[in-house]
Amino acid sequence: MTPSTDRNQQLFERARALIPGGVNSPVRAFRAVGGTPRFVQRAQGAYFWDANGTKYIDYIGSWGPMILGHGHPRVLEAVQRAVQEGFSYGAPTEREIELAEEIARHVPSVEMVRLVSSGTEAAMSAIRLARGATGRSRIVKFEGCYHGHADALLVKAGSGLATFGHPTSAGVPPEVVQHTMVLEYNNLQQIEEAFATHGQEIACIVIEPIAGNMNFVRASVPFMQRCRELCTQHGALLVLDEVMTGFRVALGGAQSVYAKALPGFKPDLTVMGKVIGGGMPLAAFGGPRAIMERLAPLGPVYQAGTLSGNPVATACGLATLKEIADPGFFPALAQKTRSLVDGLKAAAAETGVPFAADCEGGMFGFFLLPELPQNYPSVMQSDAPRFGRLFHGLLDRGVYIAPALYEAGFVSAAHSEEDIAATVQAARDVFRSLA
Ligand code: PLP
Repeated sequence: MTPSTDRNQQLFERARALIPGGVNSPVRAFRAVGGTPRFVQRAQGAYFWDANGTKYIDYIGSWGPMILGHGHPRVLEAVQRAVQEGFSYGAPTEREIELAEEIARHVPSVEMVRLVSSGTEAAMSAIRLARGATGRSRIVKFEGCYHGHADALLVKAGSGLATFGHPTSAGVPPEVVQHTMVLEYNNLQQIEEAFATHGQEIACIVIEPIAGNMNFVRASVPFMQRCRELCTQHGALLVLDEVMTGFRVALGGAQSVYAKALPGFKPDLTVMGKVIGGGMPLAAFGGPRAIMERLAPLGPVYQAGTLSGNPVATACGLATLKEIADPGFFPALAQKTRSLVDGLKAAAAETGVPFAADCEGGMFGFFLLPELPQNYPSVMQSDAPRFGRLFHGLLDRGVYIAPALYEAGFVSAAHSEEDIAATVQAARDVFRSLA
């Protein structure tokens, strides 16, 4: 394809004239891997077609929401019916209650839930609620975890142990992040020290239980257990950010996976998004009644939204959750994801490329490293140029994975065994050229 016939290239140039970087969210610009972003024309099932009409097996699924694949017939029907009844009312609807009931039914730690429009909003509001409920200001987050782009969360670790962070974005004044402590993920010593020195001032720990924004790094069971214990001992709240893992790694989210190893394990607040909206702008946060009732209009913690609980988004989310609640859904999805990961591992081993991978439910991650990393510094050891070659090799063979080293992948119910086999074969070819 020449530049004059490449529609993706033409659209990218047109987009760059009007939209900063040509995209409405930075990772879409392919900056980490180079080349021209694929402009999507349409999507169906496990595939999308770009502006040149080229078909790709899609392992991003809108960065997680499309757990049923694109255009699932029953979801489509529910959305079409909802659209006929009106786009937005700014007044309560029965469907919001149904969605809240459905979420609470599957996530036992959630007694009450507030719907919002993005994961950023949900995480930001959950932290405000944690601060409002405890009367404390400090929050603990972990390097490499992403909780959306609220100012106080755009922060990286300072030097030394258990330090306060520095803004990672221009436009965030240092004063805004002065209450955010940034610790190393899976580092027990740092979390102990943070609570030993500041325990009475910490409002909450916010954590991705499986960090999909470091590709795929699990919080170890002892680490999660200690986070829970320290929060309970010091009167802080444990906030699990399950925007990515919720209704994706299991019907009950990552918290249900940890509860298997830690009986009775529950976070205080859960942040959700992605799958609960089925591809529409919808997110939520929830927890016990006593905490959630601190929210306006009942309590002093303000939170609001013009489009919150949008009737079309809730229809899409509800229809999606109904499908995934089928008892056979997650075992089948997990088995498919596992066969992809095992196939990729075997292909890498055959060709001698260092490769480590992990998965849970319909979420997976891999690293061009000999072992799975446990925290951000070890994730940073990944070979970025080599990843770029793998990414483009797969793209040339019709397989679309995240255009960045630090992002998880997603398998949907629409991916067939043939799609998985074709993906593994494509990876085998590319691994040969990397070896
Ligand atoms: N939290 C986590 C764990 C996420 O992965 C993301 C987005 O990828 C967010 C929060 C922010 O969600 P949104 O992009 O909907 O604002």
